[in-house]
Amino acid sequence: MLLEVNELYRFYHIEDEETAALRGVSLEVEAGELVALVGPSGSGKSTLLNCIAGLDEPDGGFVDIKGERMTRRSEKARARLRALHLGMMMQSGNLFFHLSVTENIRLRMMLADRRDESRIRSLLSTVGLAHRGDNYPTQLSGGETARAGLAVALAAEPSVLIADEPTAEVDKHTEAMLVELFETRKAAGFASLIATHSEQLARTADRIIRLRDGRTDND
Ligand code: ADP
Ligand code: ADP
Repeated sequence: MLLEVNELYRFYHIEDEETAALRGVSLEVEAGELVALVGPSGSGKSTLLNCIAGLDEPDGGFVDIKGERMTRRSEKARARLRALHLGMMMQSGNLFFHLSVTENIRLRMMLADRRDESRIRSLLSTVGLAHRGDNYPTQLSGGETARAGLAVALAAEPSVLIADEPTAEVDKHTEAMLVELFETRKAAGFASLIATHSEQLARTADRIIRLRDGRTDND
């Protein structure tokens, strides 16, 4: 099991108001599986992905990535686990704006103790950005930004990839390219969990997990 999410709860408190963003969510993603996470806005998708990434701490339950506990660990331990085994494409973006695309990929690899310039070049060409390595994120179109984000997410060959609406702001051509890259990862035995509204992506997925009001709703 590459990703195990067990009985996750997350409550947000704003003044006297309590929102239960996650109410006992459990799921598993195996090696070689591409799982689509779908659900209406506010159903808890981003909260779930943030808890998996160790960027948010759940109030109950646990997350294991490649058998290692992500939840209730020190910030340092979570950052290490993220760096080694997790690739993320989040809505906030995963590019540093003061670094070129090449430098972003190189930094992500260094965080996982890897150094391989030829891999950087091959990643750039895989996502169709061979000519954009020296550009800064502000010089990229929306579609190119998403593809650069994926190149960074995949830089350290993460066992588990999570993505939050990766195709939300891209054209059809880029959407098709992202879907194809997610399929390639599946064939290579990695696990992906992708929150999406894309029908093309949902059709490609091995399974669809539906979230509604912070609960899975699969039957
Ligand atoms: P989705 O990604 O499916 O749109 P979210 O995980 O963003 O859902 O939100 C789930 C619920 O938690 C919503 O009711 C949202 O308003 C609430 N929520 C999310 N993040 C916060 C936060 N930082 N503070 C307070 N409430 C939040
Ligand atoms: P998209 O529809 O994918 O968002 P755009 O219309 O924004 O595409 O961009 C089209 C082309 O113009 C892309 O190749 C992109 O790299 C280039 N481009 C867009 N903005 C800039 C910029 N600020 N500097 C350099 N090139 C840019």
